[in-house]
Amino acid sequence: MAVLLLVYLWFSIVPVQAAEGKGISAQDGQEIYQMLKSGKRTSMPKEKTYKKPEQPTVYLTFDDGPSKLTPQVLDILDKEDVKATFFALGEEAKAHPDLIKRIVKDGHTLGNHSYNHVYKELYSDFQNFWNQIQRSEEIFADVAGVRPQLVRAPGGTYTNFDAYYYYLMEQAGYTVLDWNVDSGDSKRQNVPVNEIIQSVKNAPLEHEMNVLFHDGTGHESTVEALPQVIHYYKKLGYTFAPLTTEVKPKQFPVGKPKWSRNMSFAHFNELLQETQQYALAHVPPKNEPLDTPEQLVNQTKIAREESAQALASKPSLPLKINVVGGNGYTLDQSQYELQGDRIELALRFLVEKMGGRMEWNEPVKTAYAHYGMYDVEYDLPKRSIRLYKLGNRVATHNLADMSLVEGTIRVPLQNTVGLLGGRITQSVMDSGTREVSLAFRQFNMWNENNSLLKNSLFAINY
Ligand SMILES: [Zn+2]
Repeated sequence: MAVLLLVYLWFSIVPVQAAEGKGISAQDGQEIYQMLKSGKRTSMPKEKTYKKPEQPTVYLTFDDGPSKLTPQVLDILDKEDVKATFFALGEEAKAHPDLIKRIVKDGHTLGNHSYNHVYKELYSDFQNFWNQIQRSEEIFADVAGVRPQLVRAPGGTYTNFDAYYYYLMEQAGYTVLDWNVDSGDSKRQNVPVNEIIQSVKNAPLEHEMNVLFHDGTGHESTVEALPQVIHYYKKLGYTFAPLTTEVKPKQFPVGKPKWSRNMSFAHFNELLQETQQYALAHVPPKNEPLDTPEQLVNQTKIAREESAQALASKPSLPLKINVVGGNGYTLDQSQYELQGDRIELALRFLVEKMGGRMEWNEPVKTAYAHYGMYDVEYDLPKRSIRLYKLGNRVATHNLADMSLVEGTIRVPLQNTVGLLGGRITQSVMDSGTREVSLAFRQFNMWNENNSLLKNSLFAINY
């Protein structure tokens, strides 16, 4: 009880401190105004401010709803056990309050996509954009009790936003998000299902994928394509999550706006005051203390995750790898890296320790590993591993976690071993010991067939 009370007191003090720190002097205001006028943003999302998810993650987003199609989208997400983000329009929320409620109740993130989506209004002056964001937000707050902190600009920010829009939205406490995968479902009317799926598949794979869809009226083919898109990413090893303010937002660069606008210093100052006051009244300060028992439980979880991170940042220890029924090998600290609990190591290193040989074909970004009668292709753009036996393809695996770091393909140990038919049987990771044991189903067969594997790090079933 004492803890909760203390937490409550601290919570009530923080906004005051934030208020004092927030004011901008007239001179600073003029400097910011001039900088923004030149088209430069004052700040960009910084890597370290956000949480990079452990697993490769897809954020599905649905714009322009809710509409009569939204229940179908929600049913599919429910069935696939996927959480997503809905950038809703205030106008549609007013027409379908129950759907807004369901989006929130189902555990998805509700984002703000303006009130009426009319470009000419939204992009003729920031004041109009800002008014629409607030108008929608009041509707969301009334209907579902939430004030979305995430905003997606209708049409995306590129050539719509200028540096002022970005800056003022930040001052108001919002996170603006574009996307890095356009499903192309609103290129024109009735885009065929296959075209949507193909557009999704054409997008280069990244650790975090923010996919643009629409659940507004007329997007029946989006609903039809959705299960296949979900299966596509699941097969690649992606997990799904709703967007939050902790996810690094995908943002397009500031382009020359296609709208003619005039921002005087006086107007800028008005808007600056308005947005900052708004943030003080509505936006919880960053790093706020947690205020419910449920969140205190979460706090414990976060502390545990942080200790895993602390472990990762500690002066490294050698990592001992034992292969059940085979030899062990010790990697020194430069030969592997810990990302949370995940061990990443260089593919070339792994292959060479297996007694194999690696070649890298730069134009197609594919690595070839050769061992005895086996050849393996690591196709980086497709994140796939193709396994050949005596020149015949016997299997293809997908490994979304594969990455290219300073010219080296990095792979996560657990997933790689798993895809190749093995598993981690034991793992000790504490401040004094780092040791992992691996087992491979076909180790014995391998030992008979390929003497190279006797002394190898991994008796992978190649
Ligand atoms: Zn839209």
